Amino acid sequence: MIDPQGTRVCKFGGTSLADAARLRVVKAIVEADPTRRFVVVSAPGKRHADDIKVTDMLYACEEHLRRGEDVLDPFAVVRRRFEEMIRDLELDLDLASDFEEILREMQGGAGPDYVASCGEYLNARIVAALLGREFVDTAGLICFDAAGRFQAEETQRRMAARLRDLPGAVLPGFYGSRPDGTVQTFSRGGSDISGAIVARAVGAAVYENWTDVSGLLMADPRVVENPLPIKVVTYQELRELAYMGAGVLHDEAIFPVRQAGIPVHIRNTQRPDDAGTIIVRGVPAAADLDRHPLAITGIAGRKDFTVIALAKALMNQQIGYGAALLNILVRHGVSWEHIPSSIDTISVVVRSQELKGKLDAIQEEIRKECQPDELDIFPDIALIATVGRNMMHTPGMAARLFTALAEAGINVRTIDQGSSELNIIVGVEASDFEVAVRAIYEAFVPMQGTVPEPPPPLLPIPPSRHAPRPGSDLTP
Ligand code: ASP
Repeated sequence: MIDPQGTRVCKFGGTSLADAARLRVVKAIVEADPTRRFVVVSAPGKRHADDIKVTDMLYACEEHLRRGEDVLDPFAVVRRRFEEMIRDLELDLDLASDFEEILREMQGGAGPDYVASCGEYLNARIVAALLGREFVDTAGLICFDAAGRFQAEETQRRMAARLRDLPGAVLPGFYGSRPDGTVQTFSRGGSDISGAIVARAVGAAVYENWTDVSGLLMADPRVVENPLPIKVVTYQELRELAYMGAGVLHDEAIFPVRQAGIPVHIRNTQRPDDAGTIIVRGVPAAADLDRHPLAITGIAGRKDFTVIALAKALMNQQIGYGAALLNILVRHGVSWEHIPSSIDTISVVVRSQELKGKLDAIQEEIRKECQPDELDIFPDIALIATVGRNMMHTPGMAARLFTALAEAGINVRTIDQGSSELNIIVGVEASDFEVAVRAIYEAFVPMQGTVPEPPPPLLPIPPSRHAPRPGSDLTP
């Protein structure tokens, strides 16, 4: 058995693998470090802005088949793209029989998951030949049950056993198989999950996720000019930021590595010397590169919320008032985000799309069952999460945030700080969103070049309050 000490698993995204020139860059990156033993690949992505990702081309082939049309021409385009890469890389690799089999299976009705998975399969064959490493198929190793739910523990058992004695390998991302052997994919972008699964299986020291950006930024660059990169982020902070709209990683991808405590390093294939972002379970104070008493980790937000606001005199004396209100939402299958309240008022913040086609009925039931003195609906609310492990037990964070918003002339509609103190979420009018994000950013992010003050001690981070997705055992 090979000592996993120091082993890195590298996952490369589609843009990093779009053509022969980029594949050569990938080869140089992998070969620059002997600990980069296992490589997980996406299908080739876009070579330029107007290009089409191979996965999208494959889904288009499937669409042709569904409409009863011939698939020869669209599949020939996919085939040419791979053959071009093999030719440009001067590889001694002949995939002719694979292309023919794929075409036969496609025409025989293998289905969208099989068809989509071929982009990763063929690309992994090419990268394996380029690196001179064994190709290991993930069908039969990444397991789903008959209903299509990912099976984490069976996958871990099989993958660990298969990779244990290999010096290195190249694996396709995005797919696995069901018990009957049929191929099943994750949701779009799912190669990130495959990379995390491989990292956990080999007990990697680091899961390197190579993409086309230099990690996470502290705010959306469309809103804040040149936001600073985030050097270190905890899994929990990332969940909070991703949940509110920020993200370079597939949402579920962190679970397998989080479980095993493996850090994820997001890096830029085009700029391999950039520091990137490291995602870790906890940050020992001494190692916390981003530490600054006023520093936050990041700001994320979204505009698409509605507030349902009720007022009723002596509400605080009516036991079960809030439960009755929430029950109405439960009956309509609506999940809520926050419940800001006062003595005689209660508001529920809900994603607007959850209320589509249901709002009238919900209002009617609220009037009947809760009998509020006032019932108001405020659409077009934006929520902004200011996230940071350094906010915990640090006086003055909220004051700084609300002063900044007040000075920018922003009216704060709702406020929520979880007891974890990992974030402060404010609700503002959607039209104030950009100004509010910029105001918060400027209030917290130290001007470049300022000398940071000494850090206060870091306290342990409590568990996240966001539940994992239903139907999956990709749990933390
Ligand atoms: N190729 C798949 C997609 O485009 C999976 C991935 O790249 O992660 O979604």
